[in-house]
Amino acid sequence: MDLNQNNQNKDNKNDKKNKQGMFFVLATTIITTFLVLGLLDFAGKATTKEISYNEFLNMVEEGEVAEVIIGDNQLTIKPKSETENVLLPGIEMTYYTGVVKDEKLTERLDAADVKFWSEIPDTASAVFWNIMLSVVLPFGLIFFCMSYLMKKMSKGGGMMGIGKSNAKMYVQKETGVTFKDVAGQDEAKESLQEVVDFLHNPKKYTEIGAKLPKGALLVGPPGTGKTLLAKAVAGEAHVPFFSVSGSEFVEMYVGVGASRVRDLFKQAQAMAPCIIFIDEIDAIGKSRDTALGSNDEREQTLNQILSEMDGFSTEKGLLLLAATNRPEVLDPALLRPGRFDRRIIVDKPDLKGRVDVLKVHSKGVKMDETVDLEAIALATSGAVGSDLANMINEAAINAVKNGRKVVSQSDLFEAVEVVLVGKEKKDRIMKQEERRIVSYHEVGHALVSALQKDAEPVQKITIVPRTMGALGYVMHTPEEEKFLNTKAELDAMLVGLLAGRAAEEIVFDTVTTGASNDIERATKIARAMVTQYGMSKKFGLMGLESVQHRYLDGRAVMNCGEATVSEIDSEVMQMLKDAYEEAKRLLSENREAMDKIAEYLIEKETIT
Ligand code: ADP
Repeated sequence: MDLNQNNQNKDNKNDKKNKQGMFFVLATTIITTFLVLGLLDFAGKATTKEISYNEFLNMVEEGEVAEVIIGDNQLTIKPKSETENVLLPGIEMTYYTGVVKDEKLTERLDAADVKFWSEIPDTASAVFWNIMLSVVLPFGLIFFCMSYLMKKMSKGGGMMGIGKSNAKMYVQKETGVTFKDVAGQDEAKESLQEVVDFLHNPKKYTEIGAKLPKGALLVGPPGTGKTLLAKAVAGEAHVPFFSVSGSEFVEMYVGVGASRVRDLFKQAQAMAPCIIFIDEIDAIGKSRDTALGSNDEREQTLNQILSEMDGFSTEKGLLLLAATNRPEVLDPALLRPGRFDRRIIVDKPDLKGRVDVLKVHSKGVKMDETVDLEAIALATSGAVGSDLANMINEAAINAVKNGRKVVSQSDLFEAVEVVLVGKEKKDRIMKQEERRIVSYHEVGHALVSALQKDAEPVQKITIVPRTMGALGYVMHTPEEEKFLNTKAELDAMLVGLLAGRAAEEIVFDTVTTGASNDIERATKIARAMVTQYGMSKKFGLMGLESVQHRYLDGRAVMNCGEATVSEIDSEVMQMLKDAYEEAKRLLSENREAMDKIAEYLIEKETIT
């Protein structure tokens, strides 16, 4: 169950209770006030009575009045005869009447021997009450309301709660994921198995005097299962899993990230043993000494993480896992022993790994006997775990679309194509001439690949346009997974890539824009052969480029002077020219076969 939700539920309940209490207190106060006022009113009415001025004068003349208090607005009259109150026995009745301009009143009272006086107003207490009511009470009310609102806001994570990370942090008490759910990645699992053991019984390690690791860094391309592995560690160790993305720490305000980090560690320590997982840690962990684009907020956040990591003791079993696909940009301080000192590589899966991932994800999917996951794995070299999971799902959806109850191999191949080159665009109508050009172009690729002994076998040729821009394509399937490419294979690749353009030139005596992607890929290969693989005669084994961001796009940066760069360009140009000539030669020699296949392709659209 989501712990956050749990807390929220509790909060809600508390809120409700508070509200009920407040309401109760308010209601009782109001009712009591009314009761008291009512009683006072009743008592007042029962013990006093208004009379007319005539009646009062009569009473004075008759000698029935004992005392008169002369006020500003009223005369209070106490009678001589003790007329007992009927309703409230023991309490005397008094009378009152309004003040009438009567200059002879004092004479009359004096003559009737009545005691009379006027009360001196109590100015001090009147001023006190005035101040209380007009100043203290309103301010008190305002203060009370403000403090109540502030409390509410900070609870709800509003303006006053910027520094709290509970809004976005994601806590799972039990992830429910185990190592079995992570296919392949055996080396990573092996390293993490140790970590699971620490979390299980930290004592075993501390007793002997070993220090437990504080953090491990999962490094690899996107979609290879880093998050999944971190969850599996938590699941295997049966400990809570705190997950937060590096970018969530960094806010517009300086200092917020740092306070979020503090908050995160505080919460995690309260729940230890547990795992904190920081995804995309490069968002905050970038090296601090990059002069350009230095960022105070990011640095403060990073510093806070560093100091928190030094601060917590591992004996409780708190472990940090972080994931990144740009380990080279991370700050060295983050990687030193005692922090993220373990680096676990989670790379793209190899053939066996891909078969395993396909197996894991096809567990709940009904498949018929034609399905051969091995063949799918062979065709998807370079795909990561999330691609493969996606493919299985696409295949299942495809089967349902076609009204079938089980997934077949053709569904899977279709899904592979959808993930790699996009969906078929069946409604696009191409002109006959364009179809001819596209089919000769594709046949050119396929035929040259077939003619060269070092090229990969062709699985499929098609001229059905795809949503990702291809008008047609040739699919190669290697017979087995390769980890190395020989120079002969790379040369064959160059010739194969340029053969599409060569076919256009030979058949139509003109060239089209359709070869742009081929040219780009061929140039990239040729350049790498010259600058990285030491496969050119001119430069020999000189390393002229190095690869950056190995786990992302793998862009290369030049390591040589400007003069050399232009020489590299001319070398690459020569290689591409040679490859193009070779392609043209091969196709011209096999013109008949090319015509036949192209005619067939125009008619059938797809050849397998
Ligand atoms: P990363 O964090 O490396 O970017 P994720 O762990 O989020 O990748 O993986 C995304 C999804 O891809 C997972 O939820 C899972 O379905 C699938 N996946 C990736 N790698 C594997 C694997 N080795 N085994 C099983 N499934 C995987």
